[in-house]
Amino acid sequence: MNGILSYGTYLPLFRLDRKLIGEAIQGGGGKGTRSVAGHDEDTTTFGVTAARRAVQPIGGAGSIGSIWFASTEPPYADKTNATAIHDAIAAPDEAAAYDVNGAVRSGIGALRAGLTQGQPSLVVLSDMRSGMPGGADESSGGDGAAALVVGPGSEGAPVLCELIGAGSQTAEFLDRWREPREAASKSWEDRFGEQILVPLASATLTQALESAGIELGAVDHLVVAGSHERAVRGLRKKLGAKVGALVADPSPSIGNTGTAQLALQLADALDVAEPGQVIAALHVADGADALVFRVTDALAGWRERRTTGADQTIPITYATYLLWRKELHREPPRRPDPDVPAAPAAYRDRRWKFAFRGSRCDVCGTVHLPPQRVCASCGAVDQMTPEPVADATGTIFTVTADHLAFSEAPPMAVAVVDLDGGGRVQCELTDLAGTLPSIGDRVEMLFRRAYTVNGIHNYVWKARPIRSAAPGDDREEAHG
Ligand SMILES: [Zn+2]
Repeated sequence: MNGILSYGTYLPLFRLDRKLIGEAIQGGGGKGTRSVAGHDEDTTTFGVTAARRAVQPIGGAGSIGSIWFASTEPPYADKTNATAIHDAIAAPDEAAAYDVNGAVRSGIGALRAGLTQGQPSLVVLSDMRSGMPGGADESSGGDGAAALVVGPGSEGAPVLCELIGAGSQTAEFLDRWREPREAASKSWEDRFGEQILVPLASATLTQALESAGIELGAVDHLVVAGSHERAVRGLRKKLGAKVGALVADPSPSIGNTGTAQLALQLADALDVAEPGQVIAALHVADGADALVFRVTDALAGWRERRTTGADQTIPITYATYLLWRKELHREPPRRPDPDVPAAPAAYRDRRWKFAFRGSRCDVCGTVHLPPQRVCASCGAVDQMTPEPVADATGTIFTVTADHLAFSEAPPMAVAVVDLDGGGRVQCELTDLAGTLPSIGDRVEMLFRRAYTVNGIHNYVWKARPIRSAAPGDDREEAHG
């Protein structure tokens, strides 16, 4: 029986207090906060980090047969975004990579597609939700990602919860829509969608539970998510789940994360579920989908293999949010535009550029970043073994703020980092919250965007300060 084999989530560090929107634009905002992507993040970089966290407890991406990326805000159209995730997590060359983009319902669609595959699939649900300044979508939206490895279990990656039932209902009606070139979506009057979606979603959950042969009263964790917030709120009240079974809705603090919302809550349920318990997940968007899982004995062992760490949050101003969302336009730096990345070089160096893989000298053990043919230490030629360093933590050897370099958020902080397993790399620092780190500070590596030029997103690896652990702590404690 297929099921979920592993999972990982990622939320950006930045939070916008909704009352700051109301202070700037009368009638906007509301209570609580929403999550906001940093200036160098997009749904691909989110997806890479969530995917790395998902494959880490099962020993890497070696068993992945296909990758499915779903977003309403893909960095590219025409070009497949899942290929960058494929290369960044060093998935096998034989693994397929597909995008399922555009609609919020694509998220649960990608998950259902992945669950039917004969090989483990990596489903990456990643989104950034926006709206017109001062509007409801802007304040209620959120940014984040979840990645799930699903499919048949194996000895190294047993099924954590098996799929025991599923259901779907579809109806064509106008609820929420957006023209492909528009930034903000439009929606019909709330109550119309609620009248259609609530009975349709109730029927879908009943259908899924019947296919699993269980009653709603036997569901220990119930996730209800979707793009129609009024319908979701109504369903949470009316469905009649047993006391304490409803999985908390994180929207008040992070916002509605679109294609990622259901899986983020599913991950919350799996974080606390016990063997034998039943988890049901109901998604409402352009119809409804429901999945029913039973937790296996393997979940406890998987939790021990996972590295966890609480990411701290960084408050931002509304002006910063508008700048990062390109709703406000900053005076560009008085520097020439950065070079357009050359396709042949990027392809040739992709193991370095995307997977962050250097080389280790077989003779003397020196690590070279980027990889070299000739050892800088002992001079050995073509005696190198690939050395993946993406999961390594490191220490800042030297750091500087470059006020002249092209940056979307000047000044650019650049550091030379000594990685724990060997190797020294010069890279940009990110997620700094306005303070320049010091020499000796601990950092972790993240897949981010350097800049976008000529429509090409130039992805690179950057270092960010480890905030959840004190300097000198080892990587198990430091990783999020
Ligand atoms: Zn050597």
